[in-house]
Amino acid sequence: MLAPQGDRNRLRIEVLVRFDNRAPLRSIATANRQSEILMIIDCHGHYTTEPKDLSRFRKEQTAAANAKDKTAMPSRASLKMSDDEIRESIEKNQLKLQRERGTNLTIFSPRASGMGHHIGDESVSLEWSQICNDLIARVVSLYPQNFVGVCQLPQSPGVPPKNATGELERCVKELGFIGCNLNPDPSGGYFNSPPLTDKWWYPFYEKMVELDVPAMIHVSGCCNPAMHTTGSYYLNADTMAFMQLILSDLFKDFPTLKLIIPHGGGAVPFHWGRFRGLALNNGRPELTEIIKNNIFFDTCVYHQPGINLLAEVVPADNILFASEMVGAVKGIDPKTGFNFDDTKRYVDAAPKLSAADRQKIFEGNAHRVFGRLKTPAPAKAPG
Ligand SMILES: [Zn+2]
Repeated sequence: MLAPQGDRNRLRIEVLVRFDNRAPLRSIATANRQSEILMIIDCHGHYTTEPKDLSRFRKEQTAAANAKDKTAMPSRASLKMSDDEIRESIEKNQLKLQRERGTNLTIFSPRASGMGHHIGDESVSLEWSQICNDLIARVVSLYPQNFVGVCQLPQSPGVPPKNATGELERCVKELGFIGCNLNPDPSGGYFNSPPLTDKWWYPFYEKMVELDVPAMIHVSGCCNPAMHTTGSYYLNADTMAFMQLILSDLFKDFPTLKLIIPHGGGAVPFHWGRFRGLALNNGRPELTEIIKNNIFFDTCVYHQPGINLLAEVVPADNILFASEMVGAVKGIDPKTGFNFDDTKRYVDAAPKLSAADRQKIFEGNAHRVFGRLKTPAPAKAPG
């Protein structure tokens, strides 16, 4: 039986937004893109609902690392995570929320608070990162229209970031990933690494530029008891990164380097005047010039006034839609009746944004930032 006209239209729209990350690269010049939104891309999602044997492995690995007992390390082969378990964990959570909230594609990385770069040494970090990245690749291969991968890096305190280039290259070239999460503080809360603008990081940036992938500046779980991981540590790191970047010549050295500062940029939008004044007082250009092609903020801000301010202060060209679901802030806001992390709702309602701005935030900017993100086929007129 033929579906009613309304349903057929809906089906047609769903077909238009189909996306297959495995398909050969289809290039569409940005200038030719239509202004309507083809797909809503969430640039910040973590696999926080992993099969439970992963946490068993990590507990054993952490215990062995803390005891400095290599013989107690669990074997990678011991991990039991079936495709059915992965499907169940995704379909009941991230995929369900994508459908409910009307988003199409999530740029997906391992659980950020679980990266734990401060645990064990570089070899522990490499093994753990490879396992977590391979798991993301399995999710993407099961749901290529809904997820595309971003990797965790095998960073370790005091170890040059150059050593993480091998895993980045593996993830990009072999697993088809399109970006990475770069931890500015592998110590887990003690901020004792050189600033992101220091030459310490340059070999890693060179590899990013060569591979045409951006990094989201993202810390992991906090082991400093003075800070709450998602409440203060994440936002402190975001704010710190921005201040480092605006006083540096990093983007003169790397004009195509792209960095995403998540969680709405921490304190940046609210204190834009402070940052702008400090930049100008130090002989730097306007912030909008500094960030133009290199620094981007996401929309992981969990209330309407916060998104309104972000949209008012930061140019729409530098905002990427994101929710960081599932898990950064769980639950329903009793004042609105909607989930805190249902950020699309706030972007939809932000009064400052035009339809063209929303197209950039939901979709267009993601293509500018993620050079390896394969675009969907251009929309054809229905009928
Ligand atoms: Zn995150």
